[in-house]
Amino acid sequence: MKEEVRVRFAPSPTGYLHVGGARTALYNWLFARHEGGKFLLRIEDTDRERSTPEMVDYIVEGLRWLGLNWDEEPIFQSHHLDVYREHAEDLVARGLAYYAKTLEEEVTGERTRREWVEASPEEIGKVPLAIRFRVPVEDETSYEDLIRGLITFRNSEIGDFTILRSDGTPTYQLACVIDDHFMGISHIIRGEDHIPNTPKQILLYRAFGWEPPLFAHLPMILGPDKKKLSKRHGATAVLEYRDMGILPEALFNFLALLGWSPGEDREIVPKDEMIRLFDIRRVGKRSAVFDMNKLLWMNSVYIRMKADEELLELVLSLFEEKGLVRGEADREKLLRVIPLLKERVRVLPDFVELGFYFFTNRFEYEEKGVRKYLGDPDVPQRLRLLREKLSDVSENEFRREKIEEVLRALAEELGIKAALLIHPTRLVLTGRTQGPGLFELMEALGRNECLKRLDSYLKRAS
Ligand code: GLU
Repeated sequence: MKEEVRVRFAPSPTGYLHVGGARTALYNWLFARHEGGKFLLRIEDTDRERSTPEMVDYIVEGLRWLGLNWDEEPIFQSHHLDVYREHAEDLVARGLAYYAKTLEEEVTGERTRREWVEASPEEIGKVPLAIRFRVPVEDETSYEDLIRGLITFRNSEIGDFTILRSDGTPTYQLACVIDDHFMGISHIIRGEDHIPNTPKQILLYRAFGWEPPLFAHLPMILGPDKKKLSKRHGATAVLEYRDMGILPEALFNFLALLGWSPGEDREIVPKDEMIRLFDIRRVGKRSAVFDMNKLLWMNSVYIRMKADEELLELVLSLFEEKGLVRGEADREKLLRVIPLLKERVRVLPDFVELGFYFFTNRFEYEEKGVRKYLGDPDVPQRLRLLREKLSDVSENEFRREKIEEVLRALAEELGIKAALLIHPTRLVLTGRTQGPGLFELMEALGRNECLKRLDSYLKRAS
């Protein structure tokens, strides 16, 4: 075994960083941090047609957002094409691989079957040829998976495979083995869909005379219907979760538990704890189910754990985009509103959804609230009295305790339950039947705004 722990995340920039890839990156990162080793990034961009620089940027942005920092300059496979070719040719020279071409056969008029045949010596250097690795059919290839135990393949089932395409670009198998070797990778941690690639890669290591790294294959991530997680189940790209208002800490925690558990049914686990406890051998073999409700719950927990000032920085732009918050005074007001809402939100835009009425009086009253709370003919008179009592309170005294005192005293005076004042007042001030406590929300709204909103109701009601 190699002394130093070096692991890598090796995305192909042919698509976004999706949650499956992010979980793979995260386990590599946790493993490296736990072992005091290195976490590296390799961009597998040998497929020139399907790889784009934009996708590289998205992947990098997603990893950064999640806090999965790498320790050395990223490696781009497209920068080393000659190395792969030379190594493939070396295997040919040693009789372990051969030049080959395909015979395309018409099968049913439209389909063509590709059949590989070894090229004749006359063809070499004259026509474009691929290089195929020769798999010794009589043997078996096994390895000890850190998660799944001993896995054995019969070589006859593997069959010869292409390592260099006829355009001179390497296949995934070849490039992966060469880079993992030269990058000094000690452990390969990746999705279980790569298990069938592993014996091919081990055969290549042997052919080159290199020691293979250790392998750990992570269980699949499934949707709630137990089918492989896909677009059908909702967002799959990491940055979509960011845009949805999920905190990176919450997604990190959530992804870490998709297949691994720190024990004792713990669910909210700080990052440094995870680093301390992470053990690749304790990753389960069973597929993990992506439960969106659990992610939303975790997000709400992480939101509540944040300081109000931090939340302000995260939601300010959301309020600004809606034209709700402009100057410094609004900013201060938002800081007063955040603690009132923070217990109720699941994603960041919920702050706007649940709190827009602090910043605008242009809203309709909820219809069911109108029926329930404003129908009684006594309501306008009661609210007129409340408005009068409130206007006697100075701006400075307009605090939740004082407001409550005034309202309850009035209810007593009128011989009615306080609820008969509370519900209609909430509806008139916020348009809603539900929300934070009425007295604290009135304090945050401020004396003048409360009076103004009561007036505008009374004007309409008279
Ligand atoms: N580029 C491959 C992928 O995205 C890497 C697989 C590996 O880690 O070996 O699946």
